[in-house]
Amino acid sequence: MSLLLLGIGSMWAKKPETTGLQEVRNVIFLIGDGMGLNQICTLDSPNNFERAQATGFSKTASYDHKVTDSAASGTAMACGIKTRNRHIGLDKDSLPVPSLLAEMHDRQFATGIVVSCMIDHATPASFYAHQPNRHMSAEIIGDLYRSSLDYFAAGGRKIVSSDSLTDKGFVVCNSLEASANARQGRVAVLLADEALPPASQRGDIMQQAVKDALRFLSNQPQGFGLMVEGSQIDWTCHDNNGDELRAEMADFNEIVGICMDYCDQHPGTLLIVTADHETGATTLIGEDKTPTFASKKHTGVWVPVFAYGTNAGQFAKVQENSSFKEAILRMLAGKKNPGKGKKQ
Ligand SMILES: [Zn+2]
Repeated sequence: MSLLLLGIGSMWAKKPETTGLQEVRNVIFLIGDGMGLNQICTLDSPNNFERAQATGFSKTASYDHKVTDSAASGTAMACGIKTRNRHIGLDKDSLPVPSLLAEMHDRQFATGIVVSCMIDHATPASFYAHQPNRHMSAEIIGDLYRSSLDYFAAGGRKIVSSDSLTDKGFVVCNSLEASANARQGRVAVLLADEALPPASQRGDIMQQAVKDALRFLSNQPQGFGLMVEGSQIDWTCHDNNGDELRAEMADFNEIVGICMDYCDQHPGTLLIVTADHETGATTLIGEDKTPTFASKKHTGVWVPVFAYGTNAGQFAKVQENSSFKEAILRMLAGKKNPGKGKKQ
């Protein structure tokens, strides 16, 4: 009898975790690499960040450093664990941990990635790869071939093998025009040989890539998880280049708007916009808000979190960057683990 009561007690104890949550069908995770609050404040008002329905903060320290790199923070957000700097998809003991996108795939969701860097860079790699060092490009690309991604658009044509992607069922496209008619299967869009050009020189290719990803993933029956990175915000701050920072933030702001509009049109979609860390100890000086940099490196300050759409209010708090994965998995609609790789 007491065992029975214990059982009932634990059932009840679990309930409040899910109380008040609505089912989420689509998840869009936008990461501005190196994007602290001052980077966002380079934007004039009104801007799309101001449309957020909930705001919070994310604490970015890694397992072994107060100042994280993009590998440990990408892994924290993707895999839900604090790990060592340079680790990709591995915990502090170097054991692999599945990413949010991999777990969503196991639950029959479609998954995708859109980034303006090469596909092997730390942030996108954290969502599909498991390697002890972010610079192990060949091994990371090997994990890309073994991954469960349904769609990716990124730079890095020179480091991937079209044949290897084709062998894994990807339709390989060298432009968004080529991918525009894809409806099913798996799609790899290689947008450039290396990284995409800087925002001041690349037109609207990132906005078009995000729209293409949303179009493709919306066709999949179960819903989707999509990670998009404004990869080069970080690079402009490492370079202490205020003009390019403004251009990258204007570019990313448009992507935020596209994804918020998508949430408006598709109830059941959750959008989270945040950063992996701040870069440059960036401040904005004077009436002109001139970007001014006290560092060429990352800093350990909290970064903002903007949420929009279904369950946005859940993120209106101070949270560890390793808390997003579990928070999102708890909200997902649909069937759980019907069997990896099985056709339904
Ligand atoms: Zn960086």
